Amino acid sequence: MFKSPIEFYQSHYGNPGDIDVIFAASLATSEAIVAIENRDKDLARQKWASVDGDKLLHAWNVGIANFKLKGKVWDEIQKPVLDGPIAKPASQSLAKKVYQRDRYICRYCNMPVFTRFKGSPIHKLVEAFSDLTPGLSLINGSLHGSGKSGGIKNVDYAKFLWSLAAPDHVVPRSHGGQTDLANLVTSCSGCNYSKMDLTLEQMKVRSPL
Ligand SMILES: [Zn+2]
Repeated sequence: MFKSPIEFYQSHYGNPGDIDVIFAASLATSEAIVAIENRDKDLARQKWASVDGDKLLHAWNVGIANFKLKGKVWDEIQKPVLDGPIAKPASQSLAKKVYQRDRYICRYCNMPVFTRFKGSPIHKLVEAFSDLTPGLSLINGSLHGSGKSGGIKNVDYAKFLWSLAAPDHVVPRSHGGQTDLANLVTSCSGCNYSKMDLTLEQMKVRSPL
């Protein structure tokens, strides 16, 4: 039994050591935010500088490179035929309610998560130490990776890519899961991306509910 989808995924397709890097980065980011809120700029800078965008980007790209392998999982697992229409994705306002209820913690792996939208505490770090994330810009209050390689390929964006919040359907929509507060949990990008359309039983992951 795995604790979280990200553990399931890494144990099958990734480098298990990447999990430690990912969790350490998320923790350092949240400690940097606390430090800046406490006006300890030196500590905040030190923590934010310790987040290794190169390693995080590499881990992300390894996941994408292994995407085809993941397709093999699907060959073995049947998707159900649904009677009715598939539920719609969560709106941004519903997602925000889910995050607030869960206090911005991934319900699977307990990683602190952040959004890139207006008001996100990540903005305080990017604004205070822009030299540490030169490839990031704020557009209409939302963070974007700049440059021709775009957001996800950007090393600076990768500093919080894994800890970006996502509303995760515990029962996947493709399995009849509803888009409501009862079936949605706050998830880090790593868990959300790793889980995709699989059920908890198929991944052997314990329930976050
Ligand atoms: Zn997670």
